[in-house]
Amino acid sequence: MTGSDPVVLLVEDEAPMRRLLRLSLAAHGFRVIEAQTGALGLSLAASHNPDVLLLDLGLPDGDGIDVVRRLREWSRTPVIVLSARGREDDKVAALDAGADDYLTKPFGVGELLARVRVALRHGAAATPSGESALETPGLRIDLARREVTVDGREVALTPTEYRILVLLAHNAGRVLTHRQILKEVWGQAHVGQSHTVRVHVAELRKKIEADPARPRRLITEPGVGYRLRDREGTTDAES
Ligand code: CA
Repeated sequence: MTGSDPVVLLVEDEAPMRRLLRLSLAAHGFRVIEAQTGALGLSLAASHNPDVLLLDLGLPDGDGIDVVRRLREWSRTPVIVLSARGREDDKVAALDAGADDYLTKPFGVGELLARVRVALRHGAAATPSGESALETPGLRIDLARREVTVDGREVALTPTEYRILVLLAHNAGRVLTHRQILKEVWGQAHVGQSHTVRVHVAELRKKIEADPARPRRLITEPGVGYRLRDREGTTDAES
């Protein structure tokens, strides 16, 4: 084992399966780190920046699909989900959520190694992100912890408000249209429902703006959409 061995993060609650995967991967030059829950898996993904994530879909603290969805908010690490036979809907949902591939239990070591190698190639080709926090003036989003602080004070957002804010923060300084926000946050079927975005943005502003009536962070681009300022600004004309 050397520092340059690819790191596989294994998120699996069944000890015999974990042991099998650990031994198989270690014998073929991979470093393996392990988590038994989705929450620990996300935490280790943030702290260890693994090259590949092997993710069981049935975890004691929830659905592996939610783990994929949350990981994809800040990481492009390739994800291979481990699913039970006969759960095709789960695989589709995991892939839609951003997983790269899947293995159906039971699987052989050869198949496992082949999938991991493919995932490693994809991962190397992608732009490494590894970014686990987003910051704009006075605003910090810890993506791994899912915590938002405004001027150093933690604020509680609804899941929808959080997703809107993360989307805008990933694109800080850029305008996003109502359509883009609807598509990213609610899905394609909801594009055209601009009022929905306005309602949630109004609530979000109450939590992140000193004066929600005169927003300085989450700016309205009239007739277009919204923009999260990426630096201090003083022009009121934009609000
Ligand atoms: Ca399981």
